[in-house]
Amino acid sequence: MSHKIMAINAGSSSLKFQLLRLPAGEALCQGIIERIGLQDAVFTLKAAGQKWQETLPVADHHAAAHLLLDRLVSHRVVASLKEIDGVGHRVAHGGEAFKDSALIDSSVLAKIEALSELAPLHNPVNALGIHVFRQALPGVPMVAVFDTSFHQTLEESAFLYPLPWRYYSELGVRRYGFHGTSHKYVSHTLAEQLGVPLSALRVISCHLGNGASLCAIKGGKSVNTSMGFTPQAGVMMGTRSGDIDASILPWVAQKEGKTPQQLNALLNNESGLLGVSGVSPDYRDVEQAAQQGNRRAALALTLFAERIRATIGSYVMQLGGLDALIFTGGIGENSRSARQAICRNMQFLGLELDEEKNQRNASFIQRDTSLVKVAVVNTNEELMIARDVLRIALPQRDAQTAEPCL
Ligand code: ADP
Repeated sequence: MSHKIMAINAGSSSLKFQLLRLPAGEALCQGIIERIGLQDAVFTLKAAGQKWQETLPVADHHAAAHLLLDRLVSHRVVASLKEIDGVGHRVAHGGEAFKDSALIDSSVLAKIEALSELAPLHNPVNALGIHVFRQALPGVPMVAVFDTSFHQTLEESAFLYPLPWRYYSELGVRRYGFHGTSHKYVSHTLAEQLGVPLSALRVISCHLGNGASLCAIKGGKSVNTSMGFTPQAGVMMGTRSGDIDASILPWVAQKEGKTPQQLNALLNNESGLLGVSGVSPDYRDVEQAAQQGNRRAALALTLFAERIRATIGSYVMQLGGLDALIFTGGIGENSRSARQAICRNMQFLGLELDEEKNQRNASFIQRDTSLVKVAVVNTNEELMIARDVLRIALPQRDAQTAEPCL
C-alpha cells in the first residue's frame, strides 16, 4: 500500500516541506516558505518538473501552513488534503527523553516544549510547527523526528563532560549530538549499497554542510559524534569554530567586555571558514579565494580538513578499525578537493582514495585495493523522516481502520 507523507522542517522565519510517496520514496513536491512574518514572504513550490514562486504577505506560521495546504490543492499536487496520510516534523532537540522518533500526542508535544531550555532557538519553533499542522490537518497522525535521538546510544564515557557532576545530573549538560537523521540515513544507504548488514559494519559518517559533524557508527549504533551539548562543538564549520580551548571565552569576555550572547555570536556566526579566511562561510567561495592566492583562505581549508582528520583518527580508535568512510552534506557530496585533503596519507589505515573516481563523484571513490570503502552518499533527511512516520504512525492507523471490520 502506498502512502503520501509530508516532511516538515519549521525554522524561525521559514518552513521547508516535502511530500513523499512511500515506500517508493519518490518526492511528489518540495518547497519552502521564507521570510514568514513579513509583507514580502516568498513561497516556492516544485512539483512534476514545474516551479511556482509567489511573493505575498505571510503573517505567521499558521498562515504559512494554510498557504502551503491551499497551494498543494490549487496546483494539483494532491486532489484533496485527505490524501495526506501522515506528517513528520523535524525537531532539533529530544534531550534524554526521546531515544527514537515519537508519535505526537499532547504529552510528547509538552516534552518538546519543555526541552526548549536546551534548544531555545529551535524547539519552540518546531513545536509551533506541530501545533499549526495539528490544527490544519486534524486526525492526521504526526511523528516527531529528533536530530538528537540517533545519538542516544552513546555510552556515558562518550557523552559526559569532565565537569562537576551536578552540571549533568541537575542541568543536563552532556553531549547530545545533532544531524542524527542524516547520519542514520547515509549509514543505512551505505549498507544497502554494499549489500552488507549495517550490524556488521564500522562506519564514520562525515556530514559536511554549513553545519558539520562526524559520527562513529558501530553495528548501526552511534557510538560517538562530534557535535556536543550544542551544534557549536566538534569540527570547524562555515561560521562555527567547533572545539576550542573553553578558557578563551572568559578571557575574551574580560578583555573585550563581551556578554554571553556576544560570545555565542562570536563562536556560532563569526568563526569557522568565515573567521579564518575573512572571505565567506561558503566553502566554494573560500576555495575560489584560495585558488586566487589568498593565504588565509588556503589556511582555512587546511584547518577544516585537519580537524576532520583528527576526529576520524580518534573514531577509528574507538571503533577498533574502519570498514567505510561516508561523505555527505553540500561539501561532502560535491567538493572533490575537500575529500582529497581529508583522505590524504591514510594508506596506513587501509584507506586509499581513487582520484579518478573522486573527480567524477562516483558513489564509491576508493581504489580496488583499498580495505576501507569511501562512499559519497546524498543525504535525504526528508525521506528518513517520512520513513519514520510510516514505521511509527501508519501501522497503528492501518490497524485502527481495520478494527470496524471485526
Ligand atoms: P546546510 O548545512 O545549510 O544544509 P549544505 O549541506 O547545503 O548546507 O552545504 C552547504 C555547503 O556546501 C557550502 O559551504 C557550499 O559552499 C558547499 N558546496 C555546495 N556545493 C559545492 C561544490 N560543488 N563544491 C564545493 N562546495 C560545495
